[in-house]
Amino acid sequence: MLKSKIWLSSPHMGGNEEVYVKEAFTSNWIAPLGPNVNGFENAISSYLSDEKDYETAALVSGTAAIHLALRLLGTKTEDYILVQSFTFCGTSNPVSYEGANIVFIDSEEDTWNMCPDALEEAIVALKGKTIRAIIPVHLYGMPAKMNEILSIANKYNVPVIEDAAEALGSKYNGKACGTFGTMAALSFNGNKIITTSGGGALVAKNRDYIDKARFLSTQARDEAPHYEHSQIGFNYRMSNVVAGIGRGQMEVLDLRVQQRRDNNIRYRNYFKEIEGVSFQTEPDDSYFSNYWLTCILIDPEKSGGIDREQVRLIMEQNQIDSRPLWKPMHLQPVHKDAIFFGTGVCEKLFEQGLCLPSGSNLTDEDFERIFKVLDSIFKK
Ligand SMILES: *Cc1c(COP(=O)(O)O)cnc(C)c1O
Repeated sequence: MLKSKIWLSSPHMGGNEEVYVKEAFTSNWIAPLGPNVNGFENAISSYLSDEKDYETAALVSGTAAIHLALRLLGTKTEDYILVQSFTFCGTSNPVSYEGANIVFIDSEEDTWNMCPDALEEAIVALKGKTIRAIIPVHLYGMPAKMNEILSIANKYNVPVIEDAAEALGSKYNGKACGTFGTMAALSFNGNKIITTSGGGALVAKNRDYIDKARFLSTQARDEAPHYEHSQIGFNYRMSNVVAGIGRGQMEVLDLRVQQRRDNNIRYRNYFKEIEGVSFQTEPDDSYFSNYWLTCILIDPEKSGGIDREQVRLIMEQNQIDSRPLWKPMHLQPVHKDAIFFGTGVCEKLFEQGLCLPSGSNLTDEDFERIFKVLDSIFKK
């Protein structure tokens, strides 16, 4: 019998999503504004900080959030943007939309995120150029070394756009990821820790940025009875229908974090006795990852020749989804001419790394199936 597929990370509804969506229908708020959009934004802002000092603009995607952040900082084509290379294209594509110069920065081995040393090296090398922003990422939910990154950013007076698309629910020094940068991007795409099917948000402490993001994301319409435009905007605002899904999802976010962290512990216990497999791991107590995805490195020299591609293919044959880590953006054909600073840490991570099924809705039976297949590879 054909077994059902075990996905890498599939949507996991809490229950109240349909209630909020139904409200949108009942009240006929089927628009890119309405009570669900406001309610979702407020839920995010108060989740990120008890002080009520953060503002959120709900948007169509995390990529749109980063794009607006670059706009709000006044990015020009001659500017340089320093971007973590080890990431999804949603981090760096907005830099290309703006026609600015991308400089890719390597990862460090502790968190797999932006290497502070490579970052500073790049800033020094670009002396005389305008560096408009630094974009670090909390990859797979693991907080980047924000203390180091922010102190370099402050030293050279460069704003940070924090890509927290994968890190809602993660914390660093007790502070929520998404509250470190001048602005931060969140994503609610279908496979993220919570989802609105597709969506994102821009978060900032500075209310002015968020007011402007709301303005720019609704086609930059000036105050007038007719449609009046003194600048070019975007159609990036989240719909009140999907924001209803988001409101329901926010109610279960902490539970989802717990479930993903429990998955991570299960995998750690499984691999405890197995040579050559290591994990993306919180370096110390100041890091709290939502463990959106559990990621391992397989070193064929220590695993008796088993490599990540072999594991991925055997999992696939057994209807189990797994995926190589993000291919570094500086290795992508579209960025073959981009500048890269670092020693190639992210290249090695890409070679050896694998994301394991990590959905918060995985069952005990799913884990039994996964471990049985892993047994056939690692416990021959
Ligand atoms: C998902 C993601 C994005 C972009 O989010 P979308 O909502 O899909 O546009 C950006 N950066 C990272 C690291 C992501 O994982």
